[in-house]
Amino acid sequence: MNPPIKVRCLDCKTESSYLFNQTACPACGSQWREAVYDYPAIALQALSEWSKRPFNLWRYHELLPIQSRDPNISLGEGGTPLLKAINLGTMIGCKNIFIKDERQGPTASFKDRQAAVTIAALREAGIREMVVASTGNVAIAYSAYAARAGIKLWAFLTSLVPSEKMREVAIYGTQVIKVTGSYDQTKKVASEFAAQRNLYYDLGARSIPCIEAMKTIAYEIAEQLPNQLGPGEGYPLRAPDWYIQSVSGGMGPIGVIKGFTELKAMNLIDRIPKIAVIQVDGCAPMVHAWQQGLDTPLPVASPKTLIETLATGDPGRSYTLLRQMMLQNNGGTFISSSDEDTFRAMHFLAKMEGLSVEPAAAVAFSGLIQLVRSGVIGHDEVVVVNNTGHTFPIESAILGEGWSHDINLSHPALQESQEEGLLAALSKVASDRYPRVLIVDDMPEARQLLRRILQSQGNFTLFEAANGKEAIEVSQKERPNLILLDLMMPEMDGFAVMDALQKDKSTAEIPVVVVTAKELTPQEKQRLRGRIQNLLQKGDFISEDLQNEVKSLLN
Ligand SMILES: *Cc1c(COP(=O)(O)O)cnc(C)c1O
Ligand SMILES: [Zn+2]
Repeated sequence: MNPPIKVRCLDCKTESSYLFNQTACPACGSQWREAVYDYPAIALQALSEWSKRPFNLWRYHELLPIQSRDPNISLGEGGTPLLKAINLGTMIGCKNIFIKDERQGPTASFKDRQAAVTIAALREAGIREMVVASTGNVAIAYSAYAARAGIKLWAFLTSLVPSEKMREVAIYGTQVIKVTGSYDQTKKVASEFAAQRNLYYDLGARSIPCIEAMKTIAYEIAEQLPNQLGPGEGYPLRAPDWYIQSVSGGMGPIGVIKGFTELKAMNLIDRIPKIAVIQVDGCAPMVHAWQQGLDTPLPVASPKTLIETLATGDPGRSYTLLRQMMLQNNGGTFISSSDEDTFRAMHFLAKMEGLSVEPAAAVAFSGLIQLVRSGVIGHDEVVVVNNTGHTFPIESAILGEGWSHDINLSHPALQESQEEGLLAALSKVASDRYPRVLIVDDMPEARQLLRRILQSQGNFTLFEAANGKEAIEVSQKERPNLILLDLMMPEMDGFAVMDALQKDKSTAEIPVVVVTAKELTPQEKQRLRGRIQNLLQKGDFISEDLQNEVKSLLN
């Protein structure tokens, strides 16, 4: 059993014993409190103790508001991988981008941590029924753990939550109440319902178990980064320079900053990261307040976004607290992303890194791209992005038309020649209707990177050539609509390729975009003048030049 812990009131600073049922400060009645532990004592044994335990959320049980060390409701929460985003990093010119893949929790979002710790605490307190308000993921996570713990759950969801998510909630036996109204209104109805029936109501950022659960993300990152980058100088664990998260109510980053603050208090890390909070354009009450230097949010009465998960119009004091925590430490920023940029980032991540994420998670990646592009995040900084949730359902609006190829096997031509016929049909559907682009570069990695970037932007039929001679042969045979040409190749360089293309009538008109790794001399630039469409610098593809160039040339 862990020793009992204390809570400190954020308003009157009174410390009292932590009791799960007491949701307000006994001295002043404030609901804003934080858990405090005996850090020096825990620090002495933390590393040696932790290393003996499995890598999951309960590894840090002496720093959690539960007494039992094994709450017996585990579904495998926490311990998610920290993935290095090599392709994304190459593309945006940042070599140390890491993804904390919270999709890999039991119900596929980082709300699993919050639900696991709260339900464990609820069980210890002998409580058998509770109420949550949710935009989807909280309800799904609590439903799974409540089912496992035999606790009855009432979930109030806004009617805008996708029906697939609602059904998922109902499958666990949860009572689903659909509220036609905003998320802020839904929370109000849920809390009134709970008060009337005297049921436990989840207070989100004002709930000790919720914040304490979220801070385990920081602990895990600090333990995982040294495996990838080596330990921090003079410290056993390592904090990143930046932590980036998409935000609705802001509970995640509040917990994560608390986690890093505790690690620093225990002398295990040297710094608390800068925090980038990313909201959606259509619901950005924190961003608007931040830009005006205000310490209270500017509420949005009716959020305008397709990304319902992030539709907290009035984050209230969570914003004040978050801003204060950021300013007291190393700072950070609040920015927003449009739905459109978010969907683009979502495609990107799937095609570049093999990660299918839900729009609410993609918002963080869209923010990352903006922050690197604008120079707020430096190219050498270590960045961790919380990949908060998995895409289900895939919003149909996001894939657009033509995302599947239909092959009708009853077609007579296919029935006759079976395999050959099928392959022929496949090559036909796969190649005929998309713009044809030839990538010429002697480095296979460079060709692969260009291939990935193009594929993440749309449907293309791509050809590759590894040298000048091959480039000319492929151009004559395949007649591409566009050639991306590396200048510096052994034997026949890019200049010679252009000369050869121009001499042949069948290839003279094909537009060429030169992609080069080095600064060109004035003489070289002179040689290119009038012969190419554009000149692009490698490693700078984030500027969208390539994508825009390709699109405009092919339209
Ligand atoms: C809840 C949620 C968020 C926002 O988290 P907060 O820290 O509570 O604002 C972001 N992404 C996903 C997938 C979520 O479920
Ligand atoms: Zn108080």
